[in-house]
Amino acid sequence: MNDCLFCKFINKEIQTDIVYEDEHVLAFNDINPQAPVHQLIIPKLHVPTLNDLTDMGLAASLLTAVPKLAKQANLDSSGYRMVINCNSEGGQEVYHLHLHLIGGRQMIWPPG
Ligand code: AMP
Ligand code: ZN
Repeated sequence: MNDCLFCKFINKEIQTDIVYEDEHVLAFNDINPQAPVHQLIIPKLHVPTLNDLTDMGLAASLLTAVPKLAKQANLDSSGYRMVINCNSEGGQEVYHLHLHLIGGRQMIWPPG
């Protein structure tokens, strides 16, 4: 999907601030952080939304990256939030599936 910004990060066509990479996922700092730590975890495969995630192996790779990144950012004990926005009313703006890892301040519930 060559018009996708996040695919361009994966292919290293556009530089971004990468914090983690393995065979299946990439993670980088969000350009507009909502907290002291705000990282995005994406599949290396172009999956537009959570509705399109059918590969459970890939789902496991994405989810298991979250605690690794939380530990790396020293958030594992203090706590953090993981968010997936899906489609328009879910607030999704970039149509390449991404998990938001947010932490470093007190989270409030419910979110807006
Ligand atoms: P969502 O609204 O769930 O689709 O989230 C998209 C996220 O991508 C937002 O938090 C944006 O700040 C972030 N974002 C957009 N462009 C970039 C970029 N060039 N580098 C890093 N993060 C980005
Ligand atoms: Zn993509």
